[in-house]
Amino acid sequence: MPALPVSRRGLLSAMATGLPATGLIAAASPANAAEAEAPPPEPPVAPPLATDHGDLPSFKYHFADSRKKETAGGWAREATVAEFPASKALAGVNMRLHAGAYRELHWHALAAEWAFMLSGHARTTVIDPDGNAETNEFGPGDVWYFPRGYGHSIQGLGPDGCEFMLVFDDGAFSEFGTFSVTDWLAHTPPEMLAKNLGVPAAAFAKIPDRELYIMPGTVPPPLPLEPPVGSLVSAPQTHRYPLLAQRPIEAPGGTVRIVSSKEFPVSTTMTGVLEDINPGAVRELHWHPHADEWQYYVSGQGRMTVFGSSARARTWDYRAGDVGYVPRGYGHYIENTGSDPLRVLVVLNSGVYGDISISDWLARNPARLVAEHFNLPLDVVARFPKRKVIIA
Ligand code: MN
Ligand code: MN
Repeated sequence: MPALPVSRRGLLSAMATGLPATGLIAAASPANAAEAEAPPPEPPVAPPLATDHGDLPSFKYHFADSRKKETAGGWAREATVAEFPASKALAGVNMRLHAGAYRELHWHALAAEWAFMLSGHARTTVIDPDGNAETNEFGPGDVWYFPRGYGHSIQGLGPDGCEFMLVFDDGAFSEFGTFSVTDWLAHTPPEMLAKNLGVPAAAFAKIPDRELYIMPGTVPPPLPLEPPVGSLVSAPQTHRYPLLAQRPIEAPGGTVRIVSSKEFPVSTTMTGVLEDINPGAVRELHWHPHADEWQYYVSGQGRMTVFGSSARARTWDYRAGDVGYVPRGYGHYIENTGSDPLRVLVVLNSGVYGDISISDWLARNPARLVAEHFNLPLDVVARFPKRKVIIA
């Protein structure tokens, strides 16, 4: 039988059996020329809208085009600037952990980590530079935030582990930016570990010789309802925020939940917005003066037009599982084009939320000024909304 090059299937099954898994970028390295071809950029809608014009980079990416890095404990796939070139300031990772499995102890040198639990349950641990540590559990709709550089781990709980979306505030966070504890100790002399941790060097003879990344583990017992008296070393700011528990902002065409540093003080560099848009409704024309926007289409289907100045505007259609991106300051709207509710998870790289919306902007200018901009009769301008619509 002729020698075959290592196929992706072979690589994945090697990982599944616990053989080398050296990081997402390495795992995604093409094993042959055909796999070296990046997925084609998503074209704007065909036929384009009559108002579309000019060239903009693709602001749409299918998460399904990312190769899954699979291990016996679960899988992960990522959309960084390598896969989705427009997304320079933010990146996403979709991860599944089976019950008991760990995303091992690690930190991110370049980015903070913001997460939204899609399904199932997980437990995290996190430590800050002052030695404050926190353990939390997360269910569907819960958010976590780990500041850049904080050490953390994630474990899938029973009965069926969990799936979640991670968002990082640097599009290139992954390559050379994620530091795993097994990788570190594998590259530290056992004699040094012996000195540091106070046991003989021989005790480290069988520790992993490379990064595990995601590995199987044991479902832990439930946390005690109350910590034992005198045991608490709690973080001064919690890393958990139950976003779905928040009372939403009600708009004519749907609802919005916002979790910025105002609602969730530890989240100083990122804000999450959960937008539920009714069929036919539109998240109105707006822009964000001080943040880039990363989007994950959770359910339903929608259409976004991005306006990039200089007569450039392009429109893409999005379905569940798609990622969208809007650079800071670019105008945009999202229309629900389906017959079901559209849910979009929006993450911005600022802990302070801000947008300027077309309805509010026009309402706060004299009617004559607006009328003379658009050559409209004053009585038409008088019927415009008097305050921010949010979702029309
Ligand atoms: Mn992490
Ligand atoms: Mn927006």
